[in-house]
Amino acid sequence: MAAITLRRVTKSFGPVHVIKGVDLEIEPNEFVVFVGPSGCGKSTLLRLIAGLEDITSGELMIDEEIVNDLPPAERHIAMVFQSYALYPHMSVYDNMAFGLKLAKLDREAADARVRNAARILQIEHLLDRKPRQLSGGQRQRVAIGRAIVRDPKVFLFDEPLSNLDAALRVQMRVEIAKLHQELDATMVYVTHDQVEAMTLADRIVVLDAGRVQQFGAPLELYQHPRNRFVAGFIGSPK
Ligand code: ADP
Ligand code: MG
Repeated sequence: MAAITLRRVTKSFGPVHVIKGVDLEIEPNEFVVFVGPSGCGKSTLLRLIAGLEDITSGELMIDEEIVNDLPPAERHIAMVFQSYALYPHMSVYDNMAFGLKLAKLDREAADARVRNAARILQIEHLLDRKPRQLSGGQRQRVAIGRAIVRDPKVFLFDEPLSNLDAALRVQMRVEIAKLHQELDATMVYVTHDQVEAMTLADRIVVLDAGRVQQFGAPLELYQHPRNRFVAGFIGSPK
């Protein structure tokens, strides 16, 4: 049973065709990375899966259930953005608990989830701070924490580390890999960093202009790129 299935999915904004017929099957607990040039449709594809945009045609399934018309809140998906999108006037704790209040989780259960996520991300000592009192790396942890507390089946990451400096990026990459092991969740991750893609992915999707060029394990793409485009992104020169 696939965790996420796309069948001939397209997306147009008015006359502009951005996603041009994508077929994908992502397995449960798989870590899938989308790579491709700026503007090729990576973020749009994530937003379609999350339900933040409606697909124009095709079929989108989560756990084999068609979710084309299901609102984001009912998809059991959490998304982490590059811009952390934290509420500046709220504490770290409240930033993480906020979505749970909306979901009407009672206070004790919400508290347990926030503290567990804070433990996993090692930000227990920061719970009373405001976002402006945090470093970039700490803010990104809070943004990830806010996703974890919702206990989603699927995590979507849109270039979550691209605002961090190189050293911190390496550290967070290791932490995201650990998170994947610990949480047993399906993760779909967009990056333009080839090292991130090669080290995190079970499988990589190479996108170009709204189409999948190749979908396979990192080593497979590296050793057997289907064409020059894939080779340029991932592979050794053909
Ligand atoms: P990527 O994340 O790979 O850089 P995007 O998915 O953000 O690419 O964008 C793909 C294309 O779709 C771009 O040409 C972008 O301008 C266009 N696009 C994205 N969102 C919208 C929108 N809401 N309205 C019109 N065009 C959009
Ligand atoms: Mg993008």
